[in-house]
Amino acid sequence: MSKVVILSGAGISAESGISTFRDSGGLWEEYKIEEICTAGCMQTNRDKTIEFYDKRRLDLKDKKPNHAHLVIKELQARYPNDISIITQNVDDLFEKAGCQDVMHLHGFLPEIRCQECHSIYNIGYQKQNEAMSQCSKCQGSLRPNIVFFGEMAPKYRDMYQELQDCMMLVVIGTSGNVIDTDMFLSPYFKKEPIRYSILNNLEPSSAIDDSLYTKVLYKKATEAIDEIAKDIDEFLD
Ligand code: NAD
Ligand code: ZN
Repeated sequence: MSKVVILSGAGISAESGISTFRDSGGLWEEYKIEEICTAGCMQTNRDKTIEFYDKRRLDLKDKKPNHAHLVIKELQARYPNDISIITQNVDDLFEKAGCQDVMHLHGFLPEIRCQECHSIYNIGYQKQNEAMSQCSKCQGSLRPNIVFFGEMAPKYRDMYQELQDCMMLVVIGTSGNVIDTDMFLSPYFKKEPIRYSILNNLEPSSAIDDSLYTKVLYKKATEAIDEIAKDIDEFLD
């Protein structure tokens, strides 16, 4: 169990050229969210859904981790048992930076999953139908290994488990609309409340009460990460 949890969202990958959900421009604007990543869309809109995730997967190929991902990798190497990396992102930039055991709460773009036996296949940056047309174990049909809106997110349970022993929480690049990060700081959330917390976003979000956090950094993740790393060093030493 980790003492420091680093929980990130789309903002940490923004400087690597992957657009955030609420940013203008980018892939998200070309599609109606409710048509391509909502529970049931593999039945109602299979081709469009696969096409959308194919584009996003291919788009990852030449994207590089930024300074924030790389500093987090160094921290994990320094404190292998004390840092847990949890992300809402489906990109592979932490993995490209060399991080291990990253918890992807909302799925992972390089993976597809069998809808019948739930086997998971890593297809890298290929298009789903070009990589595999059906599950090689049970011939079931395949889907992106992504949590669509309205679906259960099984990894949330693992996140809550990690947070039980967490003494320092670092939130980077998330608007708090999908995961209510404030809740983790509530004295009722767990027996021994989190002692030190950092919030790093570009700007305030209506879904986050920043007065709850010990330190608030409204700046780019790549500009905030060295100060964050220093605080983690001091906290763990
Ligand atoms: P969001 O788009 O709702 O919020 C992004 C947050 O990041 C904002 O608070 C913004 O101030 C901050 N931000 C933007 N640029 C930043 C930077 N350079 N440095 C620091 N902070 C920055 O994102 P969310 O809260 O992660 O929720 C969006 C949902 O969409 C998630 O569920 C996620 O799975 C998904 N998503 C993932 C990716 C990805 O994998 N890279 C990209 C877009 C959306
Ligand atoms: Zn199968």
